[in-house]
Amino acid sequence: MTLSIDRQTDPASLKIHPQVALAKFTTWKVGGPAQWAIEPTNIEETQAAIAWAKENNLSITFLGAGSNLLIGDTGLPGLVIITRHLRWIETKFDAELCQIEVGAGKMIGSLAWQAARKGWTKLEWAAGIPGTVGGAVVMNAGAHGSSMQDVLVSTQVLNTAGEIVTLQPAELDYSYRHSNLQGSDLLVISAILQLAAAENAAAVVGKTQKDLERRHTTQPYDQPSCGSVFRNPLPQFSAKLIQDAGLKGYKIGGAEVSEMHANFIINCGDATATDIFQLIHYVKQQVKAKWDVDLETEVKMMGEFPALIG
Ligand SMILES: Cc1cc2nc3c(=O)[nH]c(=O)nc-3n(C[C@H](O)[C@H](O)[C@H](O)COP(=O)(O)OP(=O)(O)OC[C@H]3O[C@@H](n4cnc5c(N)ncnc54)[C@H](O)[C@@H]3O)c2cc1C
Repeated sequence: MTLSIDRQTDPASLKIHPQVALAKFTTWKVGGPAQWAIEPTNIEETQAAIAWAKENNLSITFLGAGSNLLIGDTGLPGLVIITRHLRWIETKFDAELCQIEVGAGKMIGSLAWQAARKGWTKLEWAAGIPGTVGGAVVMNAGAHGSSMQDVLVSTQVLNTAGEIVTLQPAELDYSYRHSNLQGSDLLVISAILQLAAAENAAAVVGKTQKDLERRHTTQPYDQPSCGSVFRNPLPQFSAKLIQDAGLKGYKIGGAEVSEMHANFIINCGDATATDIFQLIHYVKQQVKAKWDVDLETEVKMMGEFPALIG
């Protein structure tokens, strides 16, 4: 489906702003400015912004809630499309099919609670994940043995021609915290999820609450972080490898390996993206030296970072 685009060239009239500080749009609270940024609320605004960026030969970067991102201190060139207000469709709960249709900007954690209160099961794991539905589709977010790929029926994406295309999970090359949408030029705009009606509705709320409490007791939830920094080199766990390398509490600048959960790096208040980047590199080096394991980051790096030696 192609919608007509009003090809205005004045960025202000398109709600596109210059030099937008991005740190406040990430859960690590670091990163420099976007050359240009927009927070669209509907598809027409998004299409117009994409067309404007193309006309001006600018790169386009997508940001959800910024909960899995490290943006460099010098910021991002081109246009950044921030999708947290892209709730262009009202969330629909189809009681007959037990399906939810939801816009990309909706927070996946609050959706999990809404589903739980209806007695719908299969999304309990998402309570407490501070990302958008779009980010969860792209990252194949998950926890406690379940992930997005288990519930996704289909997703709508916007391509660079401004067309809306529907994709099935089989087309997304899903695996652990991976989809082929990562780094692609397709913007997730909505998703349909398949849940199931539980026999015991109260038990769903109980499990959601328990999953959330588990996070609060095992993760530094009240400090700026991006969740797990490294993918688990299964069957091994990054947190255990980092902890056993003696790195809990290790600090570079304002960035610290969490004392509570070794796979979290926290911003102690004055961290720069470079501090975090250097600490990530240090942890990788130490784990390689100690356990001969190459840790890979789960977090997506965007922008420029200093060259590192070793
Ligand atoms: C305290 C804490 C706990 C966490 N716990 C978990 C957990 O248990 N499990 C888990 O999987 N993750 C967890 N995370 C990481 C993070 O919340 C998830 O990866 C989440 O799905 C990212 O969503 P987001 O909207 O923040 O995406 P962002 O961080 O903004 O973006 C992530 C990637 O997706 C792309 N992207 C985002 N939105 C779109 C879109 N609409 N269309 C196209 N591309 C897009 C971005 O370009 C980027 O490459 C945690 C993070 C924190 C801070």
